[in-house]
Amino acid sequence: MDLKNRVAIITGASSGIGRAIALAMAGDGARLVLTARRADKLQDLADEIATLGSDARVVIGDITLAETAEIVTETALRAFGAIDVLVNNAGYAPPMMLVDLTEDIWDVTLNSCLKSMYLMTRAALPAMLRQDSGRIVQISSVAGKHGYATRTAYCAAKWGMQGFTEALREEITDTGLRIHTVHPGSVATEWWDNTDDPQSTQVLERMMDPEDIAQAVIWVLIQPDNVQIDEVVVKNYRSPWTNV
Ligand code: NDP
Repeated sequence: MDLKNRVAIITGASSGIGRAIALAMAGDGARLVLTARRADKLQDLADEIATLGSDARVVIGDITLAETAEIVTETALRAFGAIDVLVNNAGYAPPMMLVDLTEDIWDVTLNSCLKSMYLMTRAALPAMLRQDSGRIVQISSVAGKHGYATRTAYCAAKWGMQGFTEALREEITDTGLRIHTVHPGSVATEWWDNTDDPQSTQVLERMMDPEDIAQAVIWVLIQPDNVQIDEVVVKNYRSPWTNV
């Protein structure tokens, strides 16, 4: 896929990996619909994208609500007339041992990492099926392939994302749509701020940058349609752990 003038929706675009994906895609000429809750950060990003000569629309909202996903879809179709790429990236998951994991934190994690992805994909899919073309990129995690202490809810969400992805791949197998998963290891983003998780201090200096993940997403997107790429794992060779 040539990204020039393609229309991409990116959830969780206000910071970290989503922001880096937005800038990388805009640099390749894509037109974007960016969504998250923090209006100032999204507007700053849209302004930066305008200086790159590309066009970005902003939808402020909670992506765990069906209404937000519908507005994002309508914005893409009204502004640009198509949805060529959907990047399901939004998520939030505070690290916590299971004995301390409250129902509230479980719900926040499952809703932001998993329900948001279901709602956004369900909303965008009819237009993509009508086009009979397009790519969905799931930003999962190495925690979607391995289990980690303090990550029971997060692992449940990301493994759930993978089950959803494999089932949807079967549903769209005879269409022009493709769905891919990118599993990042540890990436230096706001995700790790304000956490007393011991893992964060251990891996802090060995983390990847959000731009590393953005480049992996671009690589997946520009592969020809006849090349099937189901999953890409992106890890830092300097990490002291095989699975991080
Ligand atoms: P950030 O905290 O920097 O970004 C998370 C993004 O998700 C923000 O834009 C935030 O926007 C958005 N978001 C969270 N909850 C909601 C919500 N309810 N409604 C709308 N937007 C929401 O973290 P990362 O960039 O690191 O994380 C992005 C993705 O990458 C996540 O899915 C995460 O699981 C995955 N990942 C991250 C890794 C890492 O080490 N950082 C490693 C592996 C995977 P706002 O607050 O403005 O609403």
